[in-house]
Order: sequence, then structure tokens, then C-alpha cells
Amino acid sequence: MNLVFASNNQHKAEEIRHIFLAKGLNINILSLSDIGINQDIEENGKTLEENALIKSNFVYKQMHINCFADDTGLEIDALNGSPGVNTARFAGEDKSNEANINKVLLLLKNETNRNAKFRTIISLNYENKLYSFEGSINGVIAKQKMGEKGFGYDPIFIPEGYDISFAQMTDNLKNSLSHRYRAINKLIEFLNIKIIK
Ligand code: IMP
Repeated sequence: MNLVFASNNQHKAEEIRHIFLAKGLNINILSLSDIGINQDIEENGKTLEENALIKSNFVYKQMHINCFADDTGLEIDALNGSPGVNTARFAGEDKSNEANINKVLLLLKNETNRNAKFRTIISLNYENKLYSFEGSINGVIAKQKMGEKGFGYDPIFIPEGYDISFAQMTDNLKNSLSHRYRAINKLIEFLNIKIIK
């Protein structure tokens, strides 16, 4: 079975293929460029849910191939859930990780409540029916950057139960804990049931 992952992020597509394979799922994951869509789909939703839905529907409506899409946000309690849907562009349109991290650290400078969570929503359009899966991980925002690995906000996110940031973890450890992994696992459980039926 072919399943489109509505993204042109080859790194993410590869990570997802790897997880599907490890779980023994015989599904061929295609990225947007694999089906001839080379532009990014505009994400103008007001929530993570809306953005994921926009992307999965776009592909299904155009190509009639089963398709899923994801959207992730960092939700910080002391900022009333911000940056949330604006996580990638928190400090500006150029999506600079450095500027995003500095903005968060500045806003939380005198804040004692540093609780936050990463949340991923996956929207699946399967045979023209919509399904949604959520994965999240709680943690705290560090007082300063810790570690060099990973991407995005990894250097300032310390997951619950650990005293090191995502950027100080091995890829295997981070991936096994991550919001995205948790959401993908729920998608896989669902697909297993659909395929076995
Ligand atoms: P996306 O929806 O996966 O593109 O994620 C939106 C933004 O969230 C990214 O541009 C990153 O800044 C941030 N982000 C998503 N996942 C992670 C993660 O695992 N670690 C750190 N930052 C992340």
C-alpha cells in the first residue's frame, strides 16, 4: 500500500519510513516530491489540528491517495501555550532556531514556572475519511542552552524525568521519547487494525 506523507522534509520522511519498517508495516511512504508536488503546502490554520488537516486534505483531494500530515508546536505554560502554532516562526519568518530559542529564554528570564510540552498532531485522510492522532511530551524550559545535537528548540527542552536536554541525548533516546514518535505510533496502531481487517 502507498501512503503519502504530506511534507517535503526528506529527513522526517526517512525517520517515518524507519519507524514503519521497525514496526513491520508493509507500507510504502511517499513524500510530496515523490508524487510530483514540489512546493510546500501553505499552512495558514489557527491551530496545529487545522494545519495538519489542510495538508492531508490537499493531497487527498488532488491525487486520491491515502495521505497523512503532521504539525508540531511547543506550548509553554507561562506564555499561555505560546508559541504553539507559531513555533517555527516565533522570532520571525526566517524560522531561525537561534532567534527562536533566544526569544523564549528572554521571555522566561524571571519566570519560575518553566513547564512546557511538545505536541504533535497527525491528520490522516484514509479513503476520504479523516482521523487524528496526538503525541506529546511534558518537560521544562532550561535556563540556558544545553547541548549541540538535534534541531529546533532541542537545546532548551528538558523532558520530564531527565536532567539533560533533547540536544544532549543520543538520537535513539530522543526519538524514542519524542512527541512525533508517540503520534506516529498511534497512527501505526490504527493502520495495523485497518490493514488486518
Ligand atoms: P514541524 O511542524 O514538525 O515543522 O515543527 C514546527 C517547529 O517546531 C519546528 O520548526 C521546530 O522549531 C519545532 N520542533 C518540532 N519538533 C521538534 C523537536 O523534536 N525538537 C525541537 N524542536 C522541534
